[in-house]
Amino acid sequence: MIARRELIAATGLALAGCATPGARLGRVVVVGGGFGGATAARYLKLWGGAAVDVTLVERNEGFISCPMSNRVIAGALDPVRIAHGYGGLEAQGVKRLRAEVVAIDPAARTIRLADRSSLSWDRLVLAPGIDFMLDDVPGLAAALDSGRAMHAWKAGAQTLALRRQLQALPDGGVVLMSIPKAPYRCPPGPYERACLIASWLRRARPRAKLLVLDANPEVQSKKALFERAFARHHAGVLEYRPNAELKEVLADGTARFEFEDVKADVLNLIPAQRAGALARDFANVNRRWVGIDWLSMQAQAAPGVHVVGDAIFSAPGMPKSAHLANQQGKLVAAAALQLLKGEAVDPAPVVMNTCYSYVTPDEAMHVASVHQYDAAEKTMRAVPGAGGVSPAASTAEAALAGAWADNIWADSLAL
Ligand SMILES: Cc1cc2nc3c(=O)[nH]c(=O)nc-3n(C[C@H](O)[C@H](O)[C@H](O)COP(=O)(O)OP(=O)(O)OC[C@H]3O[C@@H](n4cnc5c(N)ncnc54)[C@H](O)[C@@H]3O)c2cc1C
Repeated sequence: MIARRELIAATGLALAGCATPGARLGRVVVVGGGFGGATAARYLKLWGGAAVDVTLVERNEGFISCPMSNRVIAGALDPVRIAHGYGGLEAQGVKRLRAEVVAIDPAARTIRLADRSSLSWDRLVLAPGIDFMLDDVPGLAAALDSGRAMHAWKAGAQTLALRRQLQALPDGGVVLMSIPKAPYRCPPGPYERACLIASWLRRARPRAKLLVLDANPEVQSKKALFERAFARHHAGVLEYRPNAELKEVLADGTARFEFEDVKADVLNLIPAQRAGALARDFANVNRRWVGIDWLSMQAQAAPGVHVVGDAIFSAPGMPKSAHLANQQGKLVAAAALQLLKGEAVDPAPVVMNTCYSYVTPDEAMHVASVHQYDAAEKTMRAVPGAGGVSPAASTAEAALAGAWADNIWADSLAL
């Protein structure tokens, strides 16, 4: 009599080849371990199981969060709170490769790494975030390279360096922040940073000033609430001027705007942004952002290559946010698995967004929206009546903002 385990062993190969749960679907390579890419990798593995081989390629050893980094800059949060590892994803079966991807060949379905090795894929997910457009502002690249100016718009070393520069500011000194024309990542982010820096200055450098020069005609998110915070909490410290675009940074650090030159002790110059360099070949919208098919998140310029997060051309009213990058990571995981199985993708996806902003270290507010696929327009449309903004900033919402961050880190990174 054949023992049960022998039977299983004898049939094991045949069983593994069945087109049912044990079937091998293929290999998905995800490039970029930020909010979009980490979430995509996690959910591909969660929903695809052993049938899908998932490799996450990221140039950095660990994950550092932009959300909550403004609190680090203003000394309201320990930097270790925004740093996380990729161990949770690895424990779920995601293979992690620390490497720089330098080229993509969609026809051969390969990517090339900086060490000249290559990886092949059945589906590729790109989540490279943003890169900066420095060429239009003479002197800006040199000022950032030399450390004379900070952007702190990619969290990490710049976050800590800007914090250190603020700590070295003499009382009576001047901090300058410049905001680029929209679209840029995190529309409320610069105004939150301004509020938190102003809060810190009032307490630690009471004679210092923060000048916020905005290339846009007005505050880009939660306008009435930020304007109320500027007037109620930060008057006398924070001065906000719209329609002020940075034109040049001189060798002595003078920041030249259309109508004035500003000399400041600390320069936080946030450059204009575009899709991360890796996705640039697929950036078919103003040669800046990647246009995608919203049902599958495939690049219009390269079917088979999916793109999520800040690098894409956003749908109307959709901000570039960690929350949406996380939502798109789930959308692409589902779509890529369906395509690997030869199934149709979800014809009516829905994503949502919530962005909290602190106006002081103790008070925060939010904006929320829901976006549904519009088959006629082939884009996502904000659902009327869903979402909205806080009636006022509050301490209760500050607690919710902290919980939101803990949750999105846990969800994206399998913490
Ligand atoms: C100050 C600040 C505050 C913010 N606060 C909030 C907030 O409160 N809520 C919110 O929802 N959003 C917030 N955001 C926005 C949020 O950080 C971004 O929208 C989010 O990070 C986008 O995710 P992503 O995956 O597209 O890009 P990223 O998170 O930037 O990830 C991209 C990753 O790709 C990697 N990468 C790029 N190119 C390569 C390559 N060639 N090879 C290997 N790896 C590569 C990078 O190293 C990086 O890890 C904030 C942003 C800033 C700057």
